[in-house]
Amino acid sequence: MITTNYHTHNSLCDGKGEIEEYIEAAVNKEFSAIGFSSHAPLPYANEWTLNSEKLEEYLARIRTAKAACSDRIEVYTGLEVDFLPGVLHPRDKHITDLQLDYIIGSVHSLPAAPGRNTWLAVDGPDEEFLTLLNDVHKGSIASLGAEYYHQIREMLRIGGFNILGHIDLIKKKNMKYAYLDESEPWYRNQIDRTLAVLKESGVILEINTGGMARGATHEPYPSPWILTLAAQAGIPIQLNADAHEPGNIDFAYPQARAMAAECGVTEFTVLLKGKWQKIKVT
Ligand SMILES: [Zn+2]
Ligand SMILES: [Zn+2]
Repeated sequence: MITTNYHTHNSLCDGKGEIEEYIEAAVNKEFSAIGFSSHAPLPYANEWTLNSEKLEEYLARIRTAKAACSDRIEVYTGLEVDFLPGVLHPRDKHITDLQLDYIIGSVHSLPAAPGRNTWLAVDGPDEEFLTLLNDVHKGSIASLGAEYYHQIREMLRIGGFNILGHIDLIKKKNMKYAYLDESEPWYRNQIDRTLAVLKESGVILEINTGGMARGATHEPYPSPWILTLAAQAGIPIQLNADAHEPGNIDFAYPQARAMAAECGVTEFTVLLKGKWQKIKVT
């Protein structure tokens, strides 16, 4: 069985452990490939992305580590790039100029107020999410969800990236605060519209076990019913851990593989030998 993970953070952004330790863990677990995807720098102060001065060091350290283990594992260089409308997009020239092996496009943050250049994360500190839900969106998860999925569709329409990060990240705090009923028609509608744009884009949907590793969710992103719809639509799918520590590079992989198979996913799309290709799920 081929094992890979292209969604990996490290101590230069918000992860624990060094790039070399992630590679060592992946070699020990007989991975075929590991990819790095630190959070790309944001144009405002924060505690979770690469600092722009660290970007060169990040790329250089991957280059060195990769050269040292080229006979044991394939190592790929990527970034997880946020879409902040009008501020940052994976297709921005300063990102494409880096000529990365791949890019994960993610939406973590929504505007704190219309037209104001301040952002609140849906997956960060609880109070940030609760401000977004209760103040900015007046307690309406349908309003927050509409804006979140609209932002994802806009990012997909602009394109310029390979993998869509954790499509339903807005469910992250639902286990704790129970604000989202995924069976509601408005939510199904948002998912249907987003999967249609995703299909059109050719971008890969990731199964992401990062929420499980943090004890925030019992299941991966996306929820099984969303994954089933994606598989039916023929959307390319990949399994990633969104690892923030070396021990988690394959967190809950057996469970995620079983879920994928149950949802009708037969192949994962992976980057091997420098080419995107399909491998069997189990
Ligand atoms: Zn992310
Ligand atoms: Zn991530």
